[in-house]
Amino acid sequence: MRLPPDVPGRIAADRSILEELGAICDFGGRLAGTESERQAMEYVARRGHLASGVPCTKLPVSYGGWRALKAELRLPGGMPASCHPLVRSMPTPAEGVTAEVIDLGRGTPEEFEAHRQEIAGRIVLVRHELMFVAGTVHRRRKYNMARDLGAVGFLIAGPIAGALVSGSSGRSEGDAGIPAAGISPETAGLLARTAAGWARATLVVATEEYSAQTSTLLFDLPGQTDGTIVLSAHVDGHDVNESAMDNASGVATALAVIRAVEPYVHTWQRGVRLAFFSAEEWALTGSAHYVASLSDVEKHRIALNINLDTVAGGERLTALTSGFGGLEPFLLETAEANGQALRCVRPLQMNSDHANFALAGIPAFRLVAGYDNPCANVRFVLTPGDLRNKVTEAELIKAAQLTAAFLAASCNAPSSTASQWRELSK
Ligand SMILES: [Zn+2]
Repeated sequence: MRLPPDVPGRIAADRSILEELGAICDFGGRLAGTESERQAMEYVARRGHLASGVPCTKLPVSYGGWRALKAELRLPGGMPASCHPLVRSMPTPAEGVTAEVIDLGRGTPEEFEAHRQEIAGRIVLVRHELMFVAGTVHRRRKYNMARDLGAVGFLIAGPIAGALVSGSSGRSEGDAGIPAAGISPETAGLLARTAAGWARATLVVATEEYSAQTSTLLFDLPGQTDGTIVLSAHVDGHDVNESAMDNASGVATALAVIRAVEPYVHTWQRGVRLAFFSAEEWALTGSAHYVASLSDVEKHRIALNINLDTVAGGERLTALTSGFGGLEPFLLETAEANGQALRCVRPLQMNSDHANFALAGIPAFRLVAGYDNPCANVRFVLTPGDLRNKVTEAELIKAAQLTAAFLAASCNAPSSTASQWRELSK
């Protein structure tokens, strides 16, 4: 089904999209467990109600809370350098960990393998890489390889001159781990190996762990049957920036889409469930709780998850289709019919909430901007540069128009089409 003809125009004329992006950024980076996250969740609950016209259902989410009390790095000779602890980093002893720093470059599995015998007892140094390209090695994999090979610390150097990098260690509550922090590329340069050997550094990290609570915000717009499309975006982020591209852009876009389609959904075959998750940056915790709470029948009723994460900060939009090859012709046809270019990238990427749906057998994709474009602003994600000035209104409108087209088409696709989406490519 084509999108109701007035919807693209309503989205283009929607002045709230930029206003909501700005309001979400005003709360700060929204690290889960902070006042910034709590206030942003409250705001999104109010705006979701206004946009959808239906009350917000809040599902409580308990998770392993964590906060950093202190993070220091001392370079050879004792010179201090800035560092930013990765989310859920382990603490060091009070005096810190002093060890040689082994620089493994990008930190690919091959680099870890080649240095396998030299890692135990040392601090591993790797690079943060462009996340939105094929073949990227996720920070979490590097962290796990360092930990498993006996490293006593983990440093990751950011891509932007003069800037730290943030991110999560991916460590769950109760898991083994090592102290971990992001640093600037210049600091990494000062830790380079020389003829005299590996540089020696001291890392001090103090943390606190506690049981934390957040929620998942749900808004249900029923259709003609009990089939559903889940439109999702995560609200939380990191405390070094405004988390504007990742993911105020997805939240503002989802709100604009719902505002524009809300008058039509009751006439559609399937209904829409709008879901805002938190603790996404904590190994996808919010959506993991949500998907785990669904019965098999409920899982089967969800025909598709459309996950908006970092939908501005680059000109072109890509669908990460999580192995669901059967979904791709439908997405491409819908994009073309609505005059938009789209690329599909198939391997399952565990980089946002769609992954939890996909792992439960629910067709799911992430819409993302700037994929495979090293010059796109999305390269600033997780650095202090993820600010609202990296997002344009035109990008948000384009993402919202395409998402609305996907939503209308998926809510009205015949069951025979929807069952093709569930086919995983072998
Ligand atoms: Zn994200």
